[in-house]
Amino acid sequence: MKILTVISVVLIYVSQFPAPLLAQERPPIIDMHMHADLPPYDVPEGKPALCRPEPCKGDGAAIALDRMLEKTLEEMDRHNIIKAFLSGLDLGVVQKWMKAAPGRFIGSPFIVRPGQPAPEVLRQEFDARRLGGIGEIAVQLNGFAPNDAALEPYFALAEEFDVPVLIHTAGIGPYMPGFRSSAGTPLLLEDVLVRHPKLRLFVENAGYPYRDQMIAMMYQYPQLHGDVSTITWVIPRTAFYDYLEAFVRAGLGKRLMFGSDQMRWPEKIGEGIEAIEQAPFMTEEQKRDILYNNAVRFLRLEQEPE
Ligand SMILES: [Zn+2]
Repeated sequence: MKILTVISVVLIYVSQFPAPLLAQERPPIIDMHMHADLPPYDVPEGKPALCRPEPCKGDGAAIALDRMLEKTLEEMDRHNIIKAFLSGLDLGVVQKWMKAAPGRFIGSPFIVRPGQPAPEVLRQEFDARRLGGIGEIAVQLNGFAPNDAALEPYFALAEEFDVPVLIHTAGIGPYMPGFRSSAGTPLLLEDVLVRHPKLRLFVENAGYPYRDQMIAMMYQYPQLHGDVSTITWVIPRTAFYDYLEAFVRAGLGKRLMFGSDQMRWPEKIGEGIEAIEQAPFMTEEQKRDILYNNAVRFLRLEQEPE
């Protein structure tokens, strides 16, 4: 009787404090698509998360911009996210995040218009090792295509410094007056990939929903990768699984990387991870590739994959 009491006390204790124990036991994850700020369109505090296609209802509530760092780090600890590719429109904010968690963020400029920031500014940042990537390049939000001549200096710079580049080339994006789906067809990446064969380029949401074009580009250009980010939580799960399964069945499971693309809803990080972990058509190894191993290889982190 006494032993049973002790056991039940221990069980109650464990069930009350499971989170830190579980976080340590979780295998590591790399998040290839995070945002430190996101001012091109306003997200007031409390706004439900984005969802597509309408009519649909987003869940959760946007947190205030000044709580983003703290909440994001909390989620990263909870899910054992050891590294994240972090975009910021304000490079000062990116630096603040990098200082708050040394070694955990790869800082990068969020570019919504060519020239902002200027390539010369980025050259200085790379020289000083303050930044480690370019993008998200999201000029599509303002109607620019990826092969626009104004982006050339960025791709050349990324190739010179051998840093990864994230680009939004997809059929969907935020509702902005300048956004054009037609400027996001992955075939438009071909000019860039031909001109910059060493470019370490990865495409938001693997070009969703331009599946066949993206598969063609990935078959033809082995340096090209894709993330599965916003589509893990913004579109119906069935649509995400159809898309992901097509790439896995096409043999491209080693070229996709998880990203949360969380903007102001940090709980979406866990939802995105869960979407990968619950995919019924992938083996454990294929899930680990997307959540971690592929990013280790792409980022050349020189750690042994598990
Ligand atoms: Zn993004």
